[in-house]
Amino acid sequence: MKKTDNDTQLKFPQKLLKPIKSFLESEIVRLKRTEKGIKRSDPFSDPGRTLENSSEEDADEQIGHFEAQVKARFVTKQIVQLRRALSLLKIGKYGICESCGKMIDTDRLAIHPGVTVCIKCEKEREK
Ligand SMILES: [Zn+2]
Repeated sequence: MKKTDNDTQLKFPQKLLKPIKSFLESEIVRLKRTEKGIKRSDPFSDPGRTLENSSEEDADEQIGHFEAQVKARFVTKQIVQLRRALSLLKIGKYGICESCGKMIDTDRLAIHPGVTVCIKCEKEREK
């Protein structure tokens, strides 16, 4: 049985999906490594950390811990986003806006391969 091509269905060019998939996968690996590094840099995760710090050292640790948390949260968010784009890719919905169902601008995807909403919907969300 011959598979019929549905030309009316909006889809991201198939031949582009493979490099995007490997890009997303390698980005996730890279970010996970970054995430681990950040967690290691958190003074709170230092096993040699003494609990009898001077208040000055304590403040430094607090700042370091805060910074690590902010960075880690940012990286984790990116990983989640990339994983989402990857799962959409696997079900053949990559490049289609999750909100409005329209094709996401390819220029936008070229810059941010992990995006899952079009620029219009993203702006709506930010409101
Ligand atoms: Zn949209």
